[in-house]
Amino acid sequence: MAELISGKIVSEKLRSELRDEIAEFKLQCGRCPGLAVIVVGSDPASKVYVRNKHKACLDVGIESYQIEYPDGISEEELLLKIDELNADTKINGILVQLPLPNNISEKKVIERISPDKDVDAFHPANVGRITIGNYSFLPCTPSGIISLLDYYGVQISGKNCAVIGRSNIVGKPMALLLTERNGTVTLCHSKTQKLKEITLNSDIIVVAIGKAEFLTADMVKPGAVVIDVGINRNDEGKLVGDVKFDEVSQVASMITPVPGGVGPMTITTLLKNTLLAAKIQNK
Ligand code: NDP
Repeated sequence: MAELISGKIVSEKLRSELRDEIAEFKLQCGRCPGLAVIVVGSDPASKVYVRNKHKACLDVGIESYQIEYPDGISEEELLLKIDELNADTKINGILVQLPLPNNISEKKVIERISPDKDVDAFHPANVGRITIGNYSFLPCTPSGIISLLDYYGVQISGKNCAVIGRSNIVGKPMALLLTERNGTVTLCHSKTQKLKEITLNSDIIVVAIGKAEFLTADMVKPGAVVIDVGINRNDEGKLVGDVKFDEVSQVASMITPVPGGVGPMTITTLLKNTLLAAKIQNK
């Protein structure tokens, strides 16, 4: 039976360190780091994510500014708000909850956020910096996964790593970060052929595709480390990942659960990035 990689435990440890560092920042600078989170429309999932981010900020001492707009807001109005936040010294990090309504270009919105306040690390300037290994911020989910692997002493160097899913927010940066740690990475996607051959040859498998219980035990090399990013509802309405946990946990040496694995690390890394942004801006 695989050892559980607990995002809850690692996240709580990191948050306790963050509380101390933020208290120290407050002593030195006379104010808390500030994070602005913009949410547009009434998507219930987005609202839950934003509420959780707000609670997490309060938990560690970050000032959280929640800005809510109805579905009808124009792109121009949103861009002007971002300009205002870029210029506001109380705000160190800006995050726009995605997806946005169709009338608003996500690309324009992401590019309008000052790269210094881009705590999601989605701005092309930050993405470019990650590619060449000269970055301040790392995207929250892949960076949180590296923290998990480090905490549990998983060696990445020299290992075969399969990343399934090539989104800009998870798969691609995950492949870059594993490469930076000297993993030998195969980045897989929906057009990948003989996926099972690749996963069976992998020591570390990260699955981020959004397909309930996609990775099955017959695809996993005995002893592999399996990281499940997916968040899905199965036919019974239960929250499940992209990995068939019950059977893969019989084959893997370590595995993340859903919930309680990658999810808490994503938010905690956002808090870490906000403090880092505040420190950089305060220099
Ligand atoms: P996207 O929908 O942006 O991308 C999905 C990727 O999976 C694409 O690259 C797609 O390939 C690939 N894919 C789809 N089907 C298959 C298949 N059958 N075989 C191989 N590859 C496939 O996903 P995200 O990266 O945004 O999210 C992935 C999952 O992770 C979702 O469930 C999401 O909710 C979750 N998530 C969880 C987070 C957390 O904190 N726990 C944070 C972010 C996301 P192609 O490019 O060819 O279309």
